[in-house]
Order: sequence, then structure tokens, then C-alpha cells
Amino acid sequence: TIGIIALDANGNLSGACTTSGMAYKMHGRVGDSPIIGAGLYVDNEIGAATSTGVGEEVIRIVGCHLVVELMRQGHSPQEACQLAVERILKKNPAKAKEVQVGFLALNKNGEYGAYCLQKGFTYAKYDPTGNKLFDSKSNF
Ligand code: ASP
Repeated sequence: TIGIIALDANGNLSGACTTSGMAYKMHGRVGDSPIIGAGLYVDNEIGAATSTGVGEEVIRIVGCHLVVELMRQGHSPQEACQLAVERILKKNPAKAKEVQVGFLALNKNGEYGAYCLQKGFTYAKYDPTGNKLFDSKSNF
């Protein structure tokens, strides 16, 4: 997935995402990316989130909507991403070693964070003085 979430100079949030889906997917499979609330969610009052990884896991918890709602409850983007990953793990701890899922979030104040199940999820932040690359935090 390529997921983009943004906060403009007027304080408005936006987001977009695209994917080629999963390798060896069944014909007709729909992942999380084209489902608003699962692979992408933006609420201009609160924040924006996008996800990557095994879409079925994200759809099951309506992941990006969950991340935005956790931010609405007062969690930082970083905490919200971690809590969403933990929600997936709680439903099936065995998944921890089988699947990769990651969330990226941004709030109305421009704070951001990311969390994934396993290492290997990198994200970039636009910065007028030089874009920056980060490794998201992860369980493993
Ligand atoms: N989330 C995508 C899907 O499940 C896969 C990806 O590109 O990360 O279709």
C-alpha cells in the first residue's frame, strides 16, 4: 500500500491510498485499501489514518476508523496506531508471527505516529527543510 495523509496550511486534513493487493490473491478479492474506514479514514475534526499489510485483519477491526476514534478519545497518533495493532493481536495472538499490519496516523495538531506488528514498515514525512524517513515502532 502507498498511503498518504496530510495536513495543509489551513489546518485541513486529507488522505489517499493505493495498493496492488496481496500476492497470490484470489480473483475478485477486495483488500482494506478501497474500503473507507478500513484502509483509510479522515475526519477533519480529529485526524487521519491509513494502513498497510494484510487487509483482512484491518477490515475485521475497521482499523483506520478505530485509529481515528482512539485519537478522538485523547490518544496520541502513536498510541492509537499501537492500540489498533494490539486489537488485532488480542483477537488472535498467533497472528503475531504470521501477518504484517501497520498503521500510520496524523492528528489535527500535526502530531503523527506509526506502529506495525513486525519491523519493516517505513514512512516518510514531508519537511520543507528536507524530507525525513522513519522506521515505525513495532512489536518485534
Ligand atoms: N493492504 C493491502 C491489501 O490487503 C496490501 C498492501 O498493499 O499492503 O490489499
